[in-house]
Amino acid sequence: MDPNVAAERNIPLNLYRHTDPLEVEVLENRRLTSPTSPSDVRHVVLRFAEGKFRWLEGQSAGIPPPGLNARGRPNVPRLYSIASDRDGEDGTGTTLALTVKRLVYHDEEGAERRGLSSNFLCDARPGDVLRMTGPAGKDLLLPDDPMANLLLIATGTGIAPFRAFWRRRYGQPVAHGATWLLFGVQHAGDVTYGDELEALQKRDGFRLDLALSREQTTRDGRRLYVQDRLREHAEDVWAWLQRPETYVYVCGIRGMEFGVSDALGEIAKAHGQDWDALRERMVAEERWHVEVY
Ligand code: NAP
Repeated sequence: MDPNVAAERNIPLNLYRHTDPLEVEVLENRRLTSPTSPSDVRHVVLRFAEGKFRWLEGQSAGIPPPGLNARGRPNVPRLYSIASDRDGEDGTGTTLALTVKRLVYHDEEGAERRGLSSNFLCDARPGDVLRMTGPAGKDLLLPDDPMANLLLIATGTGIAPFRAFWRRRYGQPVAHGATWLLFGVQHAGDVTYGDELEALQKRDGFRLDLALSREQTTRDGRRLYVQDRLREHAEDVWAWLQRPETYVYVCGIRGMEFGVSDALGEIAKAHGQDWDALRERMVAEERWHVEVY
């Protein structure tokens, strides 16, 4: 998005930078994944003074882990999508939640390594004071039109900005378009915000399709991913893509972008259309949004 357009649309950006961060207090740190899951994903709620921070759904906040990097400089902030709508967790705009997965991996020698920032956040305790930067990002924002249909495709912690979307959309007593969430995780116990998703499924126009990659397989025996769900529901997907009020958002693990694009390409081809041309049109109309890393 053009910076002038961002300013015109009053999108808050970088109110706090690395050199001058905002102090925030940890209010809550709750595990979202089942106790037996190897994946430790947490809902970390941060509180700040009234009027000190504002953001829009789809933006991120930065948390610099304590300490210095190898060059003796303060560690740079790691960005996390904000999982709360602009009114925050308690409706007063003074709290926001981050969805954080503890990164633990093994290096080439087999030694266990822990991601500095994610472990710092996952270990944070209520009352701890952290520094926060942001908000950052202007590419994953909701359309102004509440009647837009949202096709949301998430993997893992890529669900965070979509939680902000659904809280904004379903937290207000205004008419809105349909929402279809396709959400991929490894196991059923890794479905974060399951209670909220259960409640949403009772709301008109909300649809959820899960892809549990380590519990479900495709017909040819591969791990089932969100793109396989798109293929499975190709006719519905195509009907959604035909509507000018449909906005597509893809968020999560990097490889999913290609998988999702391939699936949509196949669906378009089966209907005699060229996906690249359709996607270009959607990009130009700000109806195609991808944030993966
Ligand atoms: P994860 O648990 O490793 O994976 C989530 C699901 O995605 C699993 O079911 C996984 O299947 C599946 N998956 C793996 N490769 C895929 C592919 N090529 N296409 C479709 N699905 C695939 O996810 P995570 O650890 O939460 O990581 C999510 C990623 O999102 C991270 O890289 C994180 O940095 C990023 N993220 C981005 C944003 C953002 O851009 N705003 C926000 C939050 C998180 P298998 O493991 O069974 O193969």
